[in-house]
Amino acid sequence: MEDMEPLKACRICKNTSLIKYLDLGKTPLANAIVKKDDIDKEEKTFPLEVMYCPQCHLSQLSVIVNPKIMFSNYPYRSSISKTFIEHCKEIAEIFKKSFDFKENNLVIDIASNDGCMLQQFKEMNFKVLGIDPATNLADIANNNGIETINKFWSIPIAQDILNTKGHAKIITATNVFAHVNDLNEFVEGVKTVLDKDGIFMIEAPHALQMIKHTEFDTIYHEHLSYLLINPLKHLFTEHEMRIFRVDETPIHGGTIRVFVCHNNAEHTKEASVDKIIEQEKNETLYNIEGYNEFSKRVEKTKKDLLELLDEIKKEGKKVAAYGASAKGNTLLNYFNIKSDNIEFIADDTPEKQNHFAPGSHIPILESSAIERENPDYLMLLAWNFAKELIRKTSDFEEKGGKYIVPVPEVKVVTSKDYE
Ligand SMILES: [Zn+2]
Repeated sequence: MEDMEPLKACRICKNTSLIKYLDLGKTPLANAIVKKDDIDKEEKTFPLEVMYCPQCHLSQLSVIVNPKIMFSNYPYRSSISKTFIEHCKEIAEIFKKSFDFKENNLVIDIASNDGCMLQQFKEMNFKVLGIDPATNLADIANNNGIETINKFWSIPIAQDILNTKGHAKIITATNVFAHVNDLNEFVEGVKTVLDKDGIFMIEAPHALQMIKHTEFDTIYHEHLSYLLINPLKHLFTEHEMRIFRVDETPIHGGTIRVFVCHNNAEHTKEASVDKIIEQEKNETLYNIEGYNEFSKRVEKTKKDLLELLDEIKKEGKKVAAYGASAKGNTLLNYFNIKSDNIEFIADDTPEKQNHFAPGSHIPILESSAIERENPDYLMLLAWNFAKELIRKTSDFEEKGGKYIVPVPEVKVVTSKDYE
């Protein structure tokens, strides 16, 4: 593949009549932090447009950026975040409590990052195996005793595992399904190596929450698809598999855990599956209308935020932001916000500090810069952690600082709003 290729048909049902409903312009990759030495170089940009498939209701980007560019050296390391370790523990415990698995059963984690999830399963005496395309992360995992294959998931890899280690009882894929272009190959690989009563669990953002709460900033090039249960049902049916349970969690503004098994496995279908399909239908997500309304709300957010920033600037006040995440960069680039509006972005990831945000080129500084630079407003780009960030920056608020939360609608807030 070149750097990028256009989407020719729906990645689930192959329909070629897709409808565009959101155009966020041409932007650089949301994780492509710019180093000081590269600041004058031209950045690679790619169109960021979302298409709706009226046949299976999957939302998907109009282009596929070469995954080697996006994932071969992934900057995001799971185990750095305490919250994420807790999250991994929670998932491992679901499997231990809800299902009848035995010690030494094989667990495969696809896109296993630094082995954070498998570590939890290992502590419960499961056999574990990771797959991750990022060399830096696979190395960390292997060095920590979590066997990890440094490749993209595929049917041949699944076949190899089957031949050498046998069937897997559990296969997890958290935060990866929405990144995959060829979902049919991905699922066929899972089917190949999954035990007859095994469980495949996907965890991914639920597009219902994204649309309902105008979370357009979760749209970036890594996220090729915006998942609903209905298109997933369509996908698994094609592979003689079925969804038997769906859990909802509030992570990242609304996430679903989808539990899948072979058609003839013994797992009983739970009421949660049809309940969520009903919710999706009620939110008009099986009709382009629901998506057009979403786009209108995104436009309103843009207008409101730019007006607010202009007003603040006219008063001679200063704004900084918190969270140089992919989400934040999507928002800044789509709204064309630059360093004349936002002086810097505070971020706690050392690898990002003293570099620049992609596209906007706003400097990224360590969070102590908030005290030093003394801005009047902090815009919480990582709005999903608003409460946590406000608590962490109580000194800023005590000196009279205020917070701007851009999503789901633009608001100026204080800690009192989160009590
Ligand atoms: Zn489709």
